[in-house]
Amino acid sequence: MTISPHADFSQRPHPLQGECRRCGKEHSLCLGRAPVLGAGLMMQLISRGCLDGGGPRPATGVHSTLPLFGENRGKMLGVLEGVDACGKPVVLRAFSGQFNGLWNIDGWVPPLFDIQVWQEENTRTEKEIKHLGAVINQAQENDSTLLFLKRRRKLLSRKLMARLHELYHLQNFRGERAALGDFFTDRRGIPTGAGDCCAPKLLNYAVLHDIIPFGITEFYWGRTTRSKDRVHGRFYPACTEKCLPLMGFLLCGLEERQRQRIS
Ligand SMILES: [Zn+2]
Ligand SMILES: [Zn+2]
Repeated sequence: MTISPHADFSQRPHPLQGECRRCGKEHSLCLGRAPVLGAGLMMQLISRGCLDGGGPRPATGVHSTLPLFGENRGKMLGVLEGVDACGKPVVLRAFSGQFNGLWNIDGWVPPLFDIQVWQEENTRTEKEIKHLGAVINQAQENDSTLLFLKRRRKLLSRKLMARLHELYHLQNFRGERAALGDFFTDRRGIPTGAGDCCAPKLLNYAVLHDIIPFGITEFYWGRTTRSKDRVHGRFYPACTEKCLPLMGFLLCGLEERQRQRIS
């Protein structure tokens, strides 16, 4: 697998939109100059082959983009253009989920939770789940406790997911706070990876650091997905399943803040 030196800029990027339950209307954030900044980031990724901005180009290392072109395929990356409290232009960058097992990389916005607490929760319960797995593997097919052990393992995983989801905190431009569970109230619950995409990470970071966004976009970087719904170097709108339900809330109050900051 070779890395294509060409990024595809032919696809029209998409603005961010979402229905707000509070106001009963749709809030949006335009593209602004984000696609241009996104294209600049693509060029940097092509020339450097890693997520780092400065220093000598590392051929390998944990921030290398090489794994994105392998078996596990690519990742969505996002760019937000904004203005800080002093009126200075700011560019924020985000990667979806974890990058190479990392939640935090210098120069990229962090996730919506306290990483240390997340890791403590995760490690503790994962250990228990692994231990149960080992016991299950050693148990005989006709062992009466087998079903009980399997049920217990399933319950533990579900509880862990619920606990991890509780660690996510969202805040909007009105200073209102919400939890992930507030947005996914039907039987299916919170979809895997909700809150880990670029758009919520970028918007939440902007809110917490008094940065007013004027543009945002996301693009896919790496080996095209098997279903071909994500192609290397193409811009995509925020995803329907995980992000759309959050957007109305996260963008609420932004229009007013934009007017204040530019006046
Ligand atoms: Zn998403
Ligand atoms: Zn609203």
